[in-house]
Amino acid sequence: MNEARKRLFVLLLAFSLLALVLIFAFAWWLVSKQSLIINQIILTLTLVFFIVVFLIISIGVILLIYSLWSLKIYRGSNILIRKAIDFLFPIAIKLGHWLGIEDDKIKSSYIQVSNALVKLEQKTILPEKILILAPHCLQRVQCPHKITVNVNNCKCCGLCPVGDLLLLSQERGVQLVVATGGTFARKFIKEKKPQAIIAIACERDLTSGIQDVECIPVMGIVNERPEGPCQNTRVNLCRVEKAINYFVQGGEV
Ligand code: SF4
Repeated sequence: MNEARKRLFVLLLAFSLLALVLIFAFAWWLVSKQSLIINQIILTLTLVFFIVVFLIISIGVILLIYSLWSLKIYRGSNILIRKAIDFLFPIAIKLGHWLGIEDDKIKSSYIQVSNALVKLEQKTILPEKILILAPHCLQRVQCPHKITVNVNNCKCCGLCPVGDLLLLSQERGVQLVVATGGTFARKFIKEKKPQAIIAIACERDLTSGIQDVECIPVMGIVNERPEGPCQNTRVNLCRVEKAINYFVQGGEV
């Protein structure tokens, strides 16, 4: 069984390599036989395609800079901006590596930009349609209560931020779930059908989560990790409350 699984991936790798060779050979044939009419048409169409993609991305980046600078966003431009960011994000990360900038620093900056865009949308959401998506690592490691099954199992003992989050969610009438990972986070979003999400996580998980959830505004809050990653993490409750205020009343985060 394991052998078959390995074989599948190695086969896909080999076919990917073959596909690259074929693309390269085709490109070589197109360029070396430019006198053929069909080649001229294909080359022109390819060039037009790349120019169109480049223009769309450039417009997205210009709209992003304009929105952040003017604190205004054109209706409908968010999709274009998000597409441009998603396209350029892996390149920005690679460039950051070469320049010696830490991943978390770049991702944290991305989250700030994403939050700023969400704020500019100025959507007002009913409290019950807001979902606070908290990570399991907020729970005290020694706590025996199954809060990922039902967050109301928390006894609000004060040893970790989950109790405070639960009280805050009850007081403000918003939904709260604690997810153990991306798969459960997606499952909760499908079940709860929120119109806005306040996501608490590390830079890496927030970045991938924000990119995953395209059609719902997500306000990202990076957790604090006084004991290192993935255990006994903390969250600034004021920031969560400000995020709720933003969605409910258009307040600041
Ligand atoms: S606040 Fe809730 S989740 Fe945290 S340790 Fe206490 S009972 Fe457990």
